[in-house]
Amino acid sequence: MNLNRQIFPALAGLIALTTSAFAQSRTIVIDAGHGGYDRGGVPGQRISEKDKTLDVAQRLKRILQADGYRVIMTRDSDVFIPLPTRVSIANSYRGATFVSIHFNCASRAGANGIETYYFRSDSASLAQSIHRNVLAGAPTENRGIRRRGFYVLRKTAIPSVLVECGFLTNPTEGSLALDAGYRQKLADQIARGIRGQPAPSVKPLTSSLRSVSLGNDFVRVPAESFNRGGKRSSKSSRSHKSSKKSTSSKSKKKSSKKSTED
Ligand code: ZN
Repeated sequence: MNLNRQIFPALAGLIALTTSAFAQSRTIVIDAGHGGYDRGGVPGQRISEKDKTLDVAQRLKRILQADGYRVIMTRDSDVFIPLPTRVSIANSYRGATFVSIHFNCASRAGANGIETYYFRSDSASLAQSIHRNVLAGAPTENRGIRRRGFYVLRKTAIPSVLVECGFLTNPTEGSLALDAGYRQKLADQIARGIRGQPAPSVKPLTSSLRSVSLGNDFVRVPAESFNRGGKRSSKSSRSHKSSKKSTSSKSKKKSSKKSTED
């Protein structure tokens, strides 16, 4: 008896099931980061993050709608929407997929690249698909896919991904973000990722990721609850990207001086 004959179809089926889980979702909740008085980025940042996230989100909405997706926007204008409201919106659509759009910032102008975050294990393949596609369309570095307990990723009950579409504090990526054609490209690539289309190639990870992100993507998170279960509460619960601290020794070492990045 050829065992492979039996195992392989089962395995292939399982893989197909896993990879198609998000591709089959026909409702997409698009979350444009920031809005209203929350500009995003660092204080005094020249390019306002909230405008760029909304623009990419609206472009993505049009692309997906043309594809026949049902699209829900957590915001569709320049308004401030608290994170819990964004999550409630997402969680009211069962079977949907949540995609949060941000741009990065850092105190060091040289910091650049694309990075993508997820938290739920059912979101890993979606994160990979979006990351690879965005990266393929961006002439910049691969900062990798990271698992982090950011509020909108931790509290959503559906597959959810947050993509940082480049650094507005970087001269090159900042000017790209000011270009409507490039923002359309970003939206196109995110859409490809949502559809689960393969990306042409994957750039190697950026070797040095020493930049410090000082943005406030995740400020105004109610200082609640993720210290349930005995975990020490993060002192930075009011700060950006307050998340479960990564326990890997590597990131511990790296984060000693830059807790705001994680
Ligand atoms: Zn942001």
